Amino acid sequence: MKKFILFLFLSFAGFAFSLHAQTAAIDTLFPVRGLCLEAPYPNSVDSFIIFLDKEIAPKKINTIILRVDYRYQFESHPELIDTMPLTKSDVKKIVAVCRKNNIRIMPQINLLGHQSWASQTGKLLQVYPEFDETPQVAMPEKYTWPNPDELYCKSYCPLHPNVHKIIFDVMDELCNVFEADAFHAGMDEVFYLGDNNCPRCQGRDKAELFAGEVWKIRNHLAEKNRRLWIWGDRLLEGKISGLGMWEASYNNTHRAVDIIPKDVFVCDWHYEKPEKTPVIIASKGIQVATAPWRNADVTAQQVKDMAQFRNDAAPQIKENYAGLVQTVWSPTVFFMMEAYQTKKDKNFQGMGVWKSFLTMCEQMDAVVQKVTAKK
Ligand SMILES: [Zn+2]
Repeated sequence: MKKFILFLFLSFAGFAFSLHAQTAAIDTLFPVRGLCLEAPYPNSVDSFIIFLDKEIAPKKINTIILRVDYRYQFESHPELIDTMPLTKSDVKKIVAVCRKNNIRIMPQINLLGHQSWASQTGKLLQVYPEFDETPQVAMPEKYTWPNPDELYCKSYCPLHPNVHKIIFDVMDELCNVFEADAFHAGMDEVFYLGDNNCPRCQGRDKAELFAGEVWKIRNHLAEKNRRLWIWGDRLLEGKISGLGMWEASYNNTHRAVDIIPKDVFVCDWHYEKPEKTPVIIASKGIQVATAPWRNADVTAQQVKDMAQFRNDAAPQIKENYAGLVQTVWSPTVFFMMEAYQTKKDKNFQGMGVWKSFLTMCEQMDAVVQKVTAKK
C-alpha cells in the first residue's frame, strides 16, 4: 500500500513538474500566444466568457486582441457610439475572465486606415467628415473592386489638427475600461495616405506620414506606460517582393520600418503563404508575431518558422521573434459555433478558422515537447 501511495505521489509530482516545465518552456519559446477577434455582440457576452474560460484559456493563449472600434458606450464621446455597443459591465466581465486565466487583453480601434468598409462609412468619418483624407471620393452605392477611385477603405487625415484629441479620448477610455497595458491601433491596408488633394498632406513623403502617425499614437500611449501594437503590412514592400498591395505596401510606406519607434509591436499577417517576412521586421529591432487566419497547413508552417527564426537568431534580436496571433475575421459567434461543432465532429471544416487555431496551439505544443525532450 505504502509503495502504491509513493508511486502515486511520484507520478503526480512528475506530472506536475513536467507540466510546470512545459508551461515555462512555452513562455520561453512563444512568449506571445494570441487570438484576435471582433468584440462579441452584447447578447453573446456571457457565452463568450464561457468560451474564453473553457475553450481558449486551456489552449495556453495568453493574449487577446479584441476589435471594439466604436462598439462601446463611450462616455467621453457618446456621439461616436456605434450599433450594438458593449457596456462597461460587459467589458468588466470579459476583463475578469481574462485576468482569472492570466490572459492579457487589449482593445483595438482601427486608426488611420479602415475608416469605411465597402459602401459604408465608419463611425468616425460619419460624425466628423472633416477628418476624411479624400472627401472628394464619394462613397459608392454598390461597392466593387477594382474601382476608378481605387477606394478600398477611407482614411482619416493624420495631419488634421483636431483628429488626435478625439481618437486619443476614445482610445484612453477603452484602455482604462479594459485595464489594458497595450492597445492595438490596426493601421493596416492604408491605401489613401498623403493624397494629392489633401491641403495638409499633398506632396509629403508617405513613409514619413505613416511613421509620424505611429509615433504620435505611440507617444500618447507611452505616457501611461501602454504599448502600441499594429499590423505589419505597411512596413513591407509589396511590388518587388511579390507580396502584393494588401499584405504589403504599393504606396511607398515600407521605408517607415526604419523610422517607427522600436518598441511598437507588429502583427505580421499572411494567410495564403507562410511568408518569411518576420525576419525583415525583427532584424530592424522590432518585436513581431506572425498572424495566420484559416489555412491550417500555412499556420503549421508559420509556427515552425517562428520557432526556427527564434532559435537561429542572434542573441540581440532573439526576443523580437515573439510568437503567433490567430486572427478571426468572421463574427465571434461564428468562430464559437465552429469550435463547438468541431467538438461534435472532428472532421468539421467550417471556415477553417477554428482548425487553424487548433493547429497553431498544437504545433506550438509540439515544438515545446521536442525542445524539452532534447534537454
Ligand atoms: Zn491629409
